[in-house]
Amino acid sequence: MNDFLVLGTDTDAGKTTFALLWLAHFGDEFAYWKPLETGDSDSATIRRLLPDVRVHPSILRFVESVAPLLAARLHRQSIPSASKLSHRKPEDSRPLLIESFGGPFSPLNDEELQIALIDAFALPVVLVSSSALGAIGRTLQCLVALESRGIVPRAVVLVGKRDEFAEDQIRRQRPSLPVFSLKPPGAWTREGVAMAAADQAEALRSLRVGMERETHAVGDDDLLARDRDCVWHPYTSLRESEPPLVCVGAQDEFLHLADGRGVIDGISSWWTILHGHRYPPLMQALVEAVKKYDHVHFAGVTHPAAVEFADLLLSTVSWFEGVAGAESLKPRPVSSPTPLPGLRKASAPATPANGGRVFYSDNGSTAVEVALKMAYQFWCHLGEPARMRFVGFEHGYHGDTFGAMAVGRDPVFFGRFEPLLFPADILPLSPERLDEHLQKLGKQTAAVILEPLVQGAGGMRMHTPDALRTLFNIAKRHGVLFIADEVMTGGGRLGTLWAHQQAGIHPDLICAGKTLAGGVLPLAATLAAPHIVAAWDTDDRRCTFFHGHSFTANPLACAGAVANWRLLTAQFPEAPRRMEAFWKESLAPLAHASGVKEVRVLGSIVAVEMMKDGGYLAEVGPCMRRSCLEKGVLLRPLGNVLYAMPPFCTSQDSLDQIADAMIAAVRQVRLEFSQLA
Ligand SMILES: *Cc1c(COP(=O)(O)O)cnc(C)c1O
Repeated sequence: MNDFLVLGTDTDAGKTTFALLWLAHFGDEFAYWKPLETGDSDSATIRRLLPDVRVHPSILRFVESVAPLLAARLHRQSIPSASKLSHRKPEDSRPLLIESFGGPFSPLNDEELQIALIDAFALPVVLVSSSALGAIGRTLQCLVALESRGIVPRAVVLVGKRDEFAEDQIRRQRPSLPVFSLKPPGAWTREGVAMAAADQAEALRSLRVGMERETHAVGDDDLLARDRDCVWHPYTSLRESEPPLVCVGAQDEFLHLADGRGVIDGISSWWTILHGHRYPPLMQALVEAVKKYDHVHFAGVTHPAAVEFADLLLSTVSWFEGVAGAESLKPRPVSSPTPLPGLRKASAPATPANGGRVFYSDNGSTAVEVALKMAYQFWCHLGEPARMRFVGFEHGYHGDTFGAMAVGRDPVFFGRFEPLLFPADILPLSPERLDEHLQKLGKQTAAVILEPLVQGAGGMRMHTPDALRTLFNIAKRHGVLFIADEVMTGGGRLGTLWAHQQAGIHPDLICAGKTLAGGVLPLAATLAAPHIVAAWDTDDRRCTFFHGHSFTANPLACAGAVANWRLLTAQFPEAPRRMEAFWKESLAPLAHASGVKEVRVLGSIVAVEMMKDGGYLAEVGPCMRRSCLEKGVLLRPLGNVLYAMPPFCTSQDSLDQIADAMIAAVRQVRLEFSQLA
């Protein structure tokens, strides 16, 4: 059996009585730990009545019989965060019985409730309730509250005089939850406790079976064998020599593995998780949303979450309007040579709010497909259907679907499909080359697409806001649309809500995905500027934008996105700035280390490019991954580029650990690939 947590519906529910009976029966198979104590010491009671049991000292102990937070204030002390406390769990070869204080929603410190600590431990839970009058309501209320936070106890124990009616009523409400009753000892002496435990040995044994039920449900080896037999993983060879990590939970910056390890998710689960895993405000928003929705289709139907999120998104971008001199850069949708019949004047916009619109989809690739299709159809509506060319840039990545592959054109990933891709011009990221190209082919070009400031999958290659502004202005000068693919850079990763804002530019189309719903559920969006939208403002039904996915604007994802975006716009997190300063201090010096070509830092991202080339398939990649994993940090190098992009909640300790792991990985590469030294 593993460590487990004893929660009470309230103070004095009987947690310590339960602990005494359990430890008296199972003896020194278990050790006891109560991290925070106030008033009479339960640890001292256990020591006194069960001298053979190993009792680990509390982290904080206050003699006052008040809430720990209040007691700490009286002593001008502070209580560490849930995440810090959970890391101070004592080492013991025996499983720990961990006793909590008060109730799950008692305050832990100034920011968190004890529930955050329960979350951080991520251990099986037993809920103890007093069998005194009110047991049914008290217990069910606590269960519902715990369930709203994703915590389902393994068993309920009613401590006190046995009440079969209460047991039965609780079982009826939660048929799969084992409910037990335990009587307190008749006398609070060693003999009294031993006798009570012996009398109730059978209940205690059944309780243990109930608690262990799920612990062993997933056999690691068995799962891996079944995975090997039936699952096809993305970007993974079927002959991959290393088995996948078995993840059984995630919290904050950590992934919990089936073998008991917790590894730091240094790449935010493929760049999706923004604040941290199971970030409480987002979990809460989903809990609220599932009470109302599951999924509804989005053609001819709408829902509050989608409307609210679209409104929020649009409130964070500004289009050409209001920018001095921008009028001349603006494509002229309405005064085009052959306006479509029924096309309304732009002076009567369909949407007065901001003029732009949000088109939903469910992943970054489709957000890009939507932008490409919109760009082309825009020109068709303006009577220029010959604008069939797109411009992408070397090392650009826009997703894995056909349109996205065509403008990305990575030879390793997509070379195989080259014959099937529509023609697109892939240029070096150079203003001169773009200008030269558009002078020749500008009139045949629909749009330029670029990941602003950081080309992600192409190796975390960075360019300056100045360079971005120059490229944008060239596209505009030639009257070509500009698509900002912000699927990775948008939503806060780089320290601003949108990367393009750092260059003060106003793209015609913006693609967003990945962190849009905080990384909790898949959601993507393509934002279209007012002049783009205006080109569809017609009664001609042939001019509809015929595109949509089954899960377009999934209400649960939109509800998560509203919560995420409200957090970001209320007070932008300081994490990217904190991380940028830390990476510059800790890893930038690696630039001078032998074997290292360059170190790049922007916002929460740090990338170390090794000399050894070989692109995405570079042998140094797996070597660096392995080395970091040995240090408890999960990273996934892009070929010879080792990078980190951790969630915003990542603690300083974890950042130190990531930096140390990256430095060690560079050293390891130098050892294994001697030509680098
Ligand atoms: C990841 C990514 C995509 C593709 O998004 P998916 O959700 O994986 O389809 C597109 N563009 C950029 C810039 C990305 O980083």
